[in-house]
Amino acid sequence: MSTNQAVPASGQSPANSSLPAGLQTQLQASIPQKRFLDCVHCGLCLSACPTYLETGDENDSPRGRIYLMRAVAEGRTGLTNEIASHLEACLDCRACETACPSGVQYGRLIEPFRVAMETTRTEVQPGLANQASQWLTSTLLTKLFPSAGLTQWALWPARWMQALGVDGLAKSWPARALTPQILQRMHRLLPKLSPPAGALPDRFAPVGPRRATVALLTGCVAEAMFSQTNRATIRVLQHNGCEVLIPKTQACCGAIHYHNGDRTKAMRLARQNLGAFPWRNIDAVIANVAGCGAMLKDYGHIGEEDPQIDPVLLEELTSFAHKIKDVSEFLVDLGPVEPQHPVHLKAVYHDACHLCHAQKVKQQPRQLLSLIPGLTIAPIEEAEICCGAAGSYNLTQPEMADRLGQRKVRHILEVQGVQAVLTGNAGCALQMAACLSEANSSIPVMHVMDILDQSYGPLPQNR
Ligand code: SF4
Ligand code: SF4
Repeated sequence: MSTNQAVPASGQSPANSSLPAGLQTQLQASIPQKRFLDCVHCGLCLSACPTYLETGDENDSPRGRIYLMRAVAEGRTGLTNEIASHLEACLDCRACETACPSGVQYGRLIEPFRVAMETTRTEVQPGLANQASQWLTSTLLTKLFPSAGLTQWALWPARWMQALGVDGLAKSWPARALTPQILQRMHRLLPKLSPPAGALPDRFAPVGPRRATVALLTGCVAEAMFSQTNRATIRVLQHNGCEVLIPKTQACCGAIHYHNGDRTKAMRLARQNLGAFPWRNIDAVIANVAGCGAMLKDYGHIGEEDPQIDPVLLEELTSFAHKIKDVSEFLVDLGPVEPQHPVHLKAVYHDACHLCHAQKVKQQPRQLLSLIPGLTIAPIEEAEICCGAAGSYNLTQPEMADRLGQRKVRHILEVQGVQAVLTGNAGCALQMAACLSEANSSIPVMHVMDILDQSYGPLPQNR
């Protein structure tokens, strides 16, 4: 194994700068040593890791990152810029968990590690431009995106530019020279925007006898950019005999905060959702965005990382987490009503990392798609390898995100006659659509619920 030679072996003294104050204490409080020791260095995860596939560098592999994190946690090295850059380049896609025969819980290593790195960060990049860029990135990620209302409002200029047909101006040289990189990256990801959808009612009645009562997480970026998918999801659930509730005080799931190291804010949002959803009295809380579903299912685990947490709150977070279902997982468990309208398409299905690796929901979307008359799902190389979206990764790590996006597009275009890409995550849809467009392809990217909705057809008149 050619892991970073700068890291001394166990028992040797640190060769590097000391740890930021409190980092080691925090790491030891939130990551039990045993979690590092679960890794037996077999290397079976390497070929599943997107960043290792791209760079071939052991430090960009799960095994290498675990080695680096352990060395930092044990105080054998400081958190050097080089080590931090290998950890920050991790997509948190958790493909390594699926591949690992030893049951390593990689997400439960890297995520608390990032929280600790963030809360003890003392370094502010020098220069006004760098500080402004750090402030802008943090404001966009942690204040704008988590609010569907604010995101809707912020999308108006882009909507007008698209309507006036001058959207391409944003890619011109003067605009690129004057616009911060993160805004350029956001613009690149924008889909064709529809007019803002109206507020959803509190309740939707089932078609036919009621088989279940569920509540839908409508999300923040998802509701601002993919409101049609939320409405398609509601109709699909109605067709399957579900009463669907839309709690008005629900909040962002907190994933964007947690993955960027702000556990305090993520837990505040978790407590808000705990109060907003009537989870004790319904069959399931439904997510249709893989990243949000994975986060909601992790509320209990995230609570456990805080040694000061109130045990009653921890129990509630754990019980709430058990009520979370991805929509495809829920429908397969319920027994889906067969859709009747043919959709004549040849498509490929891309496994969103936070669905297939974090939630282990792999067969259910395929099972639902197999019910659609006329639809052919063709196999695709590396269906389970990340497309580079990974939450806000395609904004904060643009180079690797582009490499992975282009890799994904190459595999899509290798499929003869492919007419659509289907997936279960809004972030993947944005990333793949942008990368396809840059490859001069007009193949649409759709959510599994969008195409199922087409196949179920309109609701009966009196709904
Ligand atoms: S497969 Fe698991 S045990 Fe083996 S190197 Fe990777 S993380 Fe460690
Ligand atoms: S989470 Fe993904 S990118 Fe990170 S080490 Fe595991 S497989 Fe590699």
